[in-house]
Amino acid sequence: MPQIPDTATRTYGAYTRRDIDRIPALQRLPEEDRLMMKAVSAVLPFRVNNYVVEELIDWDDVPGDPMYQLTFPQRGMLDDADVHHMVDLVRRETPEAEIKAEARKIQLRLNPHPAGQMELNVPRVDGESVQGIQHKYDQTILFFPSAGQTCHAYCTYCFRWAQFVGLDDMKFAAREASGLVDYLREHKEVNSVLFTGGDPMIMKSALLRRYVEPILEANLEHITSIRFGTKAPAYWPYRFTTDPDADNLLRLFEEVREGGKNLALMAHYSHPVELSTDASQHALRRIVDTGATVRCQAPLIRHVNDNHRAWSEMWRRQVRLGAVPYYMFVERDTGAKAYFEVPLARAWQIFTKAFRSVSGLERTVRGPSMSATPGKVVVDGVTEVAGEKVFALRFVQGRDPAWVGRPFYARYDPTASWLDELEPAFGEQEFFFERGMRHLKIRARHAAAEESMWA
Ligand SMILES: *Cc1c(COP(=O)(O)O)cnc(C)c1O
Repeated sequence: MPQIPDTATRTYGAYTRRDIDRIPALQRLPEEDRLMMKAVSAVLPFRVNNYVVEELIDWDDVPGDPMYQLTFPQRGMLDDADVHHMVDLVRRETPEAEIKAEARKIQLRLNPHPAGQMELNVPRVDGESVQGIQHKYDQTILFFPSAGQTCHAYCTYCFRWAQFVGLDDMKFAAREASGLVDYLREHKEVNSVLFTGGDPMIMKSALLRRYVEPILEANLEHITSIRFGTKAPAYWPYRFTTDPDADNLLRLFEEVREGGKNLALMAHYSHPVELSTDASQHALRRIVDTGATVRCQAPLIRHVNDNHRAWSEMWRRQVRLGAVPYYMFVERDTGAKAYFEVPLARAWQIFTKAFRSVSGLERTVRGPSMSATPGKVVVDGVTEVAGEKVFALRFVQGRDPAWVGRPFYARYDPTASWLDELEPAFGEQEFFFERGMRHLKIRARHAAAEESMWA
């Protein structure tokens, strides 16, 4: 077996807004840039670590460097007026409480809850709502353990940014697995439990085990896989190699497999450089050696990975290291969206160019895909039907399973960057799923009203 050299160990060190004057590499930038960073990071969350700073960012290429754009606050992430206002407050050494209050006003204008607060189907067991789970698609449950609500570093484009600035009430998350297990017993249509957050790999293995073991011990035959959504292999590969807790974690992965289930790491890789270091390759090798599957996904982001070469290179490296390309997402309508957005037409071009240049093994990837309220919608292409230029679209996940796989068409619009900016093609009044969505919303409202009546 080819040997990947063991990597030197590293002790985790995080940098946040308070440390901007302490990050050595930043001291080469003009004072004005650091002021701007302090201003923007009062509004949008900022957290980076020593591995990202020392190994992933090419400081000779700042500010253009993709990993720098991925993790450090940038001027363009806020409106000019908001940046000026916040810079002014920071410059005048305004008390933190006042800075926070001003930042809050801006945050609330950045569409902090793109999925909407409305839960279309609140999960219940015996009439009681279950903490920390979301059941949007029949076969897969999202599970939010309360201790997994942060990450080793934050992505500047994160669609869950609101929870990192205290805009969300994390009491929602689950402190134990018993509610989940009860729910799974009653829902035989579920095959897969996806731990998400935050990043569940932030948890100590012993804690993670307290959530995972009850699922294994319940002998739920219909559960075929346990998934962990994570950015740790990219942001902190030592979690799987030299951290004191690394071996315990890999042992837990093996136990899931021994329990007759697939352990799937849904790894968030944004750029091929994240797969270029010894540490990252060593981590992936050790994960794959446990029998786990690594499936890779990321959004397409301007300034970070909006070119086809980055994607084809990333997919090839993933396959080389035993991982499986899974989804290319479209950036959601939240936070610094205006800074990062890529129109759907361009996203499809980038995807297709990259897709055409890789072998079938890399073509397990699907995209560009929008995780929207009605479901996951993939842009299959731009074409002409009956003389009209259109987007061909398709659900790969649907709020109603009957929508999946049914092609539908939107009028071509070179600037549209999200589903709700599209119009139906051929002069139709609405998309085929909109009627169904109205019904689901009415039903959810009735259910919620009934709940509050009896509460
Ligand atoms: C993407 C997603 C899933 C998982 O879908 P797969 O296609 O099985 O990976 C589950 N729930 C929600 C809400 C999702 O967005």
